[in-house]
Amino acid sequence: MNDFAYPSDRTILVTGAAGFLGSHLCKKLLATNDNIEILAVDNLYSGTKYNIAELEKHPRFEFLRHDVTNPLVVEVDEIYNLACPASPVHYQHDPVQTLKTSVHGAINMLGLAKRTKSKILQASTSEVYGDPKTSPQREEYWGNVNPIGIRSCYDEGKRAAETLFFDYRRQHALDTRVMRIFNTYGPSMHPNDGRVVSNFIIQALKNEPITVYGDGSQTRSFCYVDDLINGMIGLMNCPQAGAEPVNIGNPHEITVCQLADIVIELTGSKSKVDYLTLPGDDPLQRCPDISKAKSLFNWEPKVQLETGLARTIKYFDELLMAKPAVLQAAE
Ligand code: NAD
Ligand code: UDP
Repeated sequence: MNDFAYPSDRTILVTGAAGFLGSHLCKKLLATNDNIEILAVDNLYSGTKYNIAELEKHPRFEFLRHDVTNPLVVEVDEIYNLACPASPVHYQHDPVQTLKTSVHGAINMLGLAKRTKSKILQASTSEVYGDPKTSPQREEYWGNVNPIGIRSCYDEGKRAAETLFFDYRRQHALDTRVMRIFNTYGPSMHPNDGRVVSNFIIQALKNEPITVYGDGSQTRSFCYVDDLINGMIGLMNCPQAGAEPVNIGNPHEITVCQLADIVIELTGSKSKVDYLTLPGDDPLQRCPDISKAKSLFNWEPKVQLETGLARTIKYFDELLMAKPAVLQAAE
């Protein structure tokens, strides 16, 4: 290769790249492909440059601060559209911006995919099922969603984005993927994002009360981030997987109280549980049926909850000791 040779044969755009999942995705893509470049886009609303600090030195990684509610004119070959705050605390902080991010962001990224003839994946969510009347949730289930509640900016935004993805696919023959992500956890979650796993671990490490909302009998199914990212890349690269949405998550379902007990045990914490008011429209249960991902691209999660939690606890423990700027902002 001469000095001027283009080092890659594919440029992959990742929106939401400074967030929890986006930063893991960029790291995995760069680690497993020698022939790609990453264009990482984020407006740093809920993500942080701390998550991509080590990547910024990488020769095939470029960061662009940009809000996806505005059009983006770049040349790319593949798009992972992850931009959108995922934690209820963050997405409810500015609900109008959340809805715009999902809807205008999808329109802008789909328009970009259309012009550049790129394959495009949408990070959708189990929230499209709302408070489900059936369990486990299969992709065929249309959901039970409140259109006007405090979670609606996120749920309905993601549902509208799915509609746009399938309309662009039918109307403009775009190569699309829609991934319904169930609760995912792991290192690089923002310490201040208010999600249950990060909250409980930080509270336990500080021996502070564990804040269980409601009576803690609501269920969630927690997927470790490495498994989730493998599923995301598997879905993007499975040509047969575009015609329908695909659930990616861990079907091991537990109550929020059980999660609190496991975190207390794994951290050896002295924390006691504090029961607080359940937020509006909080779904009672959530558990993915992952048979479609299994049959299409042989994906299933491998990391046990205790193993994934132990790794996440180590991450937050080190973060609490190091006290970087990201944590000071959280205090
Ligand atoms: P996150 O909040 O850590 O990351 C989202 C990133 O998007 C942040 O870096 C944020 O700054 C950026 N962003 C937000 N609005 C933007 C905008 N208008 N323009 C550009 N960037 C913007 O959340 P996450 O957990 O990494 O989630 C990533 C994606 O996966 C989201 O689309 C989310 O809805 C979806 N998802 C995540 C989970 C989960 O459990 N982590 C579950 C379901 C769906
Ligand atoms: N939750 C809790 N305590 C917390 C944070 C969350 O009991 O400090 C509960 C929340 O009410 C929900 C579940 O944990 O039932 C998962 O919440 P999270 O915000 O992580 O994600 P969600 O699945 O609700 O989007």
